[in-house]
Amino acid sequence: MKILCVGAHQDDNEFRVGGITQKWVKAGYEVRFLSMCNGDGGHHIMTPEETTKRRAGESAKVAEYLGIRYDVWSDVHDCTLMADLETRERLIRYIREFNPDLIVAHRPNDYHADHRASAQLVQDASYILTVPHTCPDVPAMRYMPVIVYNEDTFRYPPFEPTFIVELTEEEMERKLDIADFNVSQVYEWLPYTYGETVPEGKEERREFLRGIKITDKTTDEEILATKSGYEARFAKTASRHRQALIERYGEEKGKKIRYAEAFMLSEYGKQPDEELVNKLFYL
Ligand SMILES: [Zn+2]
Repeated sequence: MKILCVGAHQDDNEFRVGGITQKWVKAGYEVRFLSMCNGDGGHHIMTPEETTKRRAGESAKVAEYLGIRYDVWSDVHDCTLMADLETRERLIRYIREFNPDLIVAHRPNDYHADHRASAQLVQDASYILTVPHTCPDVPAMRYMPVIVYNEDTFRYPPFEPTFIVELTEEEMERKLDIADFNVSQVYEWLPYTYGETVPEGKEERREFLRGIKITDKTTDEEILATKSGYEARFAKTASRHRQALIERYGEEKGKKIRYAEAFMLSEYGKQPDEELVNKLFYL
């Protein structure tokens, strides 16, 4: 199986699919992350050039740790991604060359202009992937890939999970490791935007990154009310979609799952049968 995760920025894929990616790699699937922008807008002190360079180094660490390939469109500046014809054809060629079974993308209702453009580009590319006379220099795909949206929290219209996947404690810890590699984001840029003070020292930073430590006694309400920290962020998917977890995993197990990742099926890709769903999500 080949999986392509298309994000607008470095860290979008990490935080939204960093758990299931571990399962895919373990199963021997070939996984690629694409960041359509180069990350240069994400800092308040470094110059855009310095930020791009540093972000590339951080993404390389993520790629090595996860065992995936990580591509960044280094010529596309943050906050400038457009769903225009040139970029659509660039994406069509990129997808055809990899020939994935599954594409994970943003939803077109996501908050950032780059996320929306990225989502629109995947939708615009989707059917044309199979049309031979468009971009004839790269052979058209014979079959449509499955396309799913990664999770966001916007409500008009709401994200409704078609597939929800349990993450183990270990997979969540590794997601924290991945967050930790994104130093310029999680310890510099994002705290700057939220007005947070970041401690010095490795252990103190890990605690800052984690936020609250979730135990069997922590309720969904407490998790959903937590404002900062990545452990709660990764737990919120399970708390938010508790009913979907119960439907998928049964009453007893579904109630206890702490961490999850959720995906909404796009109508524009292949509609998978149960066997393919299990291969892609419940491996
Ligand atoms: Zn983003």
